[in-house]
Parts: sequence; structure tokens; C-alpha cells
Amino acid sequence: AHQTVDHDSAIFDLIAQEGERQRIGIELIASENFASAAVRAAQGSVLTNKYAEGYPGKRWYGGCEVVDQVERLAIERVKELFGAAWANVQPHSGSSANLAIYNALIEPGDTVLGMDLSHGGHLTHGNPVNFSGLRYKIVGYKVNPETELIDMEEVRRLAHEHQPKMIIAGASAYSRVIDFAAFRVIADEVGAILFADVAHIAGLIAAGVHPNALPHAHVVASTTHKTLRGPRGGVILSNDPELGAKIDRAVFPGYQGGPLEHVIAAKAVAFREALQPEFKTYAAQIVKNAQALATAFQSLGYRVVSGGTDNHLLVLDIRPNGLNGTKATKLLDANHITISKSTLPYDSEKILHGGGIRLGTPAVTTRGMNEADMHTIAGLIDRALKGEDVKAEVHAFAGGFPLP
Ligand code: PLP
Repeated sequence: AHQTVDHDSAIFDLIAQEGERQRIGIELIASENFASAAVRAAQGSVLTNKYAEGYPGKRWYGGCEVVDQVERLAIERVKELFGAAWANVQPHSGSSANLAIYNALIEPGDTVLGMDLSHGGHLTHGNPVNFSGLRYKIVGYKVNPETELIDMEEVRRLAHEHQPKMIIAGASAYSRVIDFAAFRVIADEVGAILFADVAHIAGLIAAGVHPNALPHAHVVASTTHKTLRGPRGGVILSNDPELGAKIDRAVFPGYQGGPLEHVIAAKAVAFREALQPEFKTYAAQIVKNAQALATAFQSLGYRVVSGGTDNHLLVLDIRPNGLNGTKATKLLDANHITISKSTLPYDSEKILHGGGIRLGTPAVTTRGMNEADMHTIAGLIDRALKGEDVKAEVHAFAGGFPLP
């Protein structure tokens, strides 16, 4: 490793700087986490040298006898983790996984019903500049204006009115339990495919802290790097092997070439970690921490969207502070507290800025922080949003917690 560093100090100095940034800051981006040293070792391994187009036992290249075993282990472990009959571990990212699902299961021009993006949906659920919005007719369901919860009667009404080919259940900024069983009932009423995008909550599902989508959805996609705490990547699951075969073809040769076997090995390591009893404790603590953070902000006078959280994230309305999401992100960045801006349901701010910020606890929980620490963090954020410089306190506080 040292030789490499000597060869390219420009990059390796930057990697060291990023490590230090992660160490001294408070990481509250809901989609981020700190992967274990084992995950990072697998991802940085010699497996990156190997071409393996195809699937285990059916490759276009020679020399795949070892990576075949790696990929089979990843598949077996993720099937066990989520109780799935079939899995594809090759998608390079969550968005790639989603693209494969659209390509495999519906046609351009078909109608898709997904969560409105400004209410918490993801880019790939129909943003007008994303392939999803460009290629398909997208109908968005919104949360109830009073409760700010997904309104299943509204989903049903839209499903019957628009007769979508596919319904997407899943979000990037929704803090409450998603009722996959109820979505399936509606999908069956209109003959639609139910696609559950559990990218954000996969780790919570794996640990049994959020209901599993697998028994209900026709197909489930996820990222592996958020609550699941693996390498950056995607995975697709299903209990229907026929549908799985279509998706396999849509991934390769449909739109990917060689799979990233080093990343697949790192996914396998993360899946094994998530199968351990300690992961259940970890995931339960993520939720406790998010709830403690929500309560702490409420006692400081803030409004939390939907009044709280059941999962790893919360969305705060920061308009009363005279701020928008962009301004708040900058203020917190200056104090080395990392968050992401968010739109609010029925936001009065421009979508570009958003009237809220999204805070998540997967990363701080990995560092060993607990509910009392969430109160400390809420206090630091509140003061930073009011213009105080709390950087030194942030460094002293965060520096006390180890990184994997
Ligand atoms: N789906 C959801 C619900 C997400 O929140 C995300 C990431 O933010 C993705 C898919 C896409 O993942 P990636 O960034 O790996 O493409």
C-alpha cells in the first residue's frame, strides 16, 4: 500500500483527508454509513482484475472458477437475509437495479404509479430528467396533507384511475413504516406489478426492525450501502424465479457488461455481517437514535414532518428559522455537520432549495452514539442554524467515537 501512496500522493493524500473529514465531523446523511474494514478490504482486492460477463457457471470468460464462488456466496447470503427465492447481486448501483426492473418488466410509455418526488420518492421513480420520467408515464401519489403519511386510499384511487402497469413502494425521505401488504392488495386490484424499492430501509428490514417487502412485492430492489452498511452497489430480489430470469437478462446483457466481482465480494461480506445477531442490535439502535433526535428537536421547538419517525431518518421543517434547505446545508457544512436538504410535503419553498433538512442516524449509530448523544447533536445543530460557530465542539464530540 505504501508503494502505491508514493506513486500517487495526490490521490492518496486526498483519501487521507477524506478519512479525517469523516472522523472529525458528524455524519447525518440518511443514505450514508461507515462500511467495515472487511467490506473495504474485499472491495479493494484483486477481484477488481477479473472479467466475468455472465452469471456463475455461465460466463463468457475463462478463469471464473473463483469469482463464481464469490458471486454464489453473495447470492445465497442475500437470499437468506431477506427470505428471497431469487437474487441478482450485479447491479452497479441502486439506480442501475431500478433501470433493470423497468426494462425487464414494463414497456416505454407504460404508466407507473410511484411516490411523488417532492414527498419523498427517488429520482428513478419518475423525475422528468431521469430515464424513468423520460420513458414512462408517471403518476405520483402524495402524502396526506394533515398526517403527512402515505394515504393508502389515495394510492388506491390513483391506481384505479390510471391503471398503472407498475406501482412503486419505497422512498428516499419518508420516515414512517411502508405498508407493503396494503400496496400489494392495490396492485392486485388493478393487475399491476408491485416493485418495492427498499434502498433506504434494507438494513432495518434485514434486522426485522421494519416489515419485509419480500412476501408482498413481485420484485424488490435495494442499494447495499445505506442502512445495510455494505459497499456502494445494488441488488434485486424476488420470490418469482421466472420474473428473476427476465431481470437477469435485463442486467446482463441488457445494459451492463462485466460485473464488479470485487464489489460483489464486499456485498457478500456485508450480507454476512447483517446476518449476525449484533446487526439486529445495531438496526434497533438506529431507530432509537432517530426517535431520540426527533424528540430532541421537538423539545427545541422544531416541527418534525409527520410528527416523528419509525425508521432511520427524520425531516425537519427549517422555514421558521428563516432558512431553506440549501442555506441550512451550508451553515451546517461550515460546522462539519453533514446533512442533506429536503423538500417538505406541499413545500412553500422552491424544490431546488427545499424547506427542510433530512437527518439520518445509520452512520452515527455505527460510531457507537446513543440517545443521549442525539440530544447533544440536536443542540449543536440548533445553535449552528442560529449562526453560532460550533465547529470545535463538533470535532471534540465526534472525535470521541471510533470509526470502523
Ligand atoms: N432508490 C432509493 C429509494 C434511493 O434512495 C436511492 C439512493 O438515494 C436509490 C434508489 C439509488 O441508489 P444509487 O445512488 O446507488 O443509484
